[in-house]
Amino acid sequence: MALMVPALMQLVLLFLVSSGRRASSASSFFDEDILLGSAFRDASGLISQRRERNGSSGSKSSWGEGGWKEEILWLARRPETVEWLKRLRRRIHENPELAYEEVETGKLIREQLDGMGVEYCFPVALTGLVATIGTGGPPFVAIRADMDALPIQEAVEWKHKSKVPGKMHACGHDAHVAMLLGAAKILKIREHHLKGTVKLLFQPAEEAGIGAKRMIEDGALMDVEAIFAVHVSHEHPTSVIGSRAGPLLAGCGFFKAVIRGREGHAGNPHHSVDPILAASAAVISLQNIVSREANPLDSQVVSVASFNGGDDLDLIPDSVIIAGTFRAFSNASFYQLRQRIEEVIIQQSSVYRCTTSVDFFEQERFYPPTVNDEFMNEHVKKVAIDLLGPENYKIVPPMMGAEDFSFYSEVIPAAFFYIGIRNETLGSTYTGHSPYFMIDEDVLPIGAAVHAAVAERYLIEHG
Ligand SMILES: [Zn+2]
Ligand SMILES: [Zn+2]
Repeated sequence: MALMVPALMQLVLLFLVSSGRRASSASSFFDEDILLGSAFRDASGLISQRRERNGSSGSKSSWGEGGWKEEILWLARRPETVEWLKRLRRRIHENPELAYEEVETGKLIREQLDGMGVEYCFPVALTGLVATIGTGGPPFVAIRADMDALPIQEAVEWKHKSKVPGKMHACGHDAHVAMLLGAAKILKIREHHLKGTVKLLFQPAEEAGIGAKRMIEDGALMDVEAIFAVHVSHEHPTSVIGSRAGPLLAGCGFFKAVIRGREGHAGNPHHSVDPILAASAAVISLQNIVSREANPLDSQVVSVASFNGGDDLDLIPDSVIIAGTFRAFSNASFYQLRQRIEEVIIQQSSVYRCTTSVDFFEQERFYPPTVNDEFMNEHVKKVAIDLLGPENYKIVPPMMGAEDFSFYSEVIPAAFFYIGIRNETLGSTYTGHSPYFMIDEDVLPIGAAVHAAVAERYLIEHG
């Protein structure tokens, strides 16, 4: 497919890989991926040369206050950096790991950070880690990437297709990791410009297991006053940034209710307690929560997506299971929905003499709304426009999808933004979680640059 590496490039890569390889006793599938050390040293040297050519040196050089855009973009777009980013992303893509299983992905990240001389704390949230770059003192700002893949069989036929049957990076988290490593590289080179400390959060288990919550519980946000994250989006052309202030992604919860009655012959229903009737009444009543109780201007959803009970035409079953999902764009509405779903199912069932338990999977799949802080969103917008031009920034509408980044945005000012990966020529037009999902890898250097710039400029403005 269109994302193949040209043959000549492969030869160059092969040479770079073998010449940059470190002695390592670890035997992972990432072993050969130690390009960074030499590329990093090259970049530092070249920057010094360019500073000298510009007639300045140190933090007051033209690469400092005035020249930050040029240097960040230059660092990100160097051919060595671009190839390194693609290589990282392809390695991760070929070896997808599900929630809390990101062992090899984490090893790759640590190898790369070691090569850059970046310090990190590991493990955090089981398989995650937090790297730090900067002065070591306040202010602290965080940028985050998620690392996990999905239990999906990849349907895209290309050279770097997933090697693990039934697992795929179908949400672009492989790209997120590569972009955050790219940002680490840029920030490390520009560390003398940082007016505080950047924490880089490599988070496990976004798709399941709410890894963000566990990162917070393990202290990842300690001293951090603001956090940012980017997600690839097939809805925007490659490298176009999109965001909005306020609610961006819905809160998303799931429920499963077991409604218990008493089994009995269907011809003599008075000898049974009918959970089918109770569950049916509960399903009807659930529809009234949004239509009768919610403000019509406050978008909310309750959907029953599963109804199971009985398999005998002549027998009223002992129990029925109903299950579904609910969404809302404010914390108040989201937690209100959770409470009302529980009340309606339990009380409606009791009308029909049934007993009910409702599970909300709150330790696995329970995502509050992602709400962008007005000032943090403005910061992203300003940096994106400064770096990429106004034509490459868009205000986007809210979406019914969900993200566990919301746990961070509940705690500190935060902004979550999109970066486009849509390229009709390549065919990167499928939504996340599709087996046909693919990205335009040209996004990688720009994503790294935006991440780095968002963090660096935050510290310049608040340090
Ligand atoms: Zn996803
Ligand atoms: Zn995702």
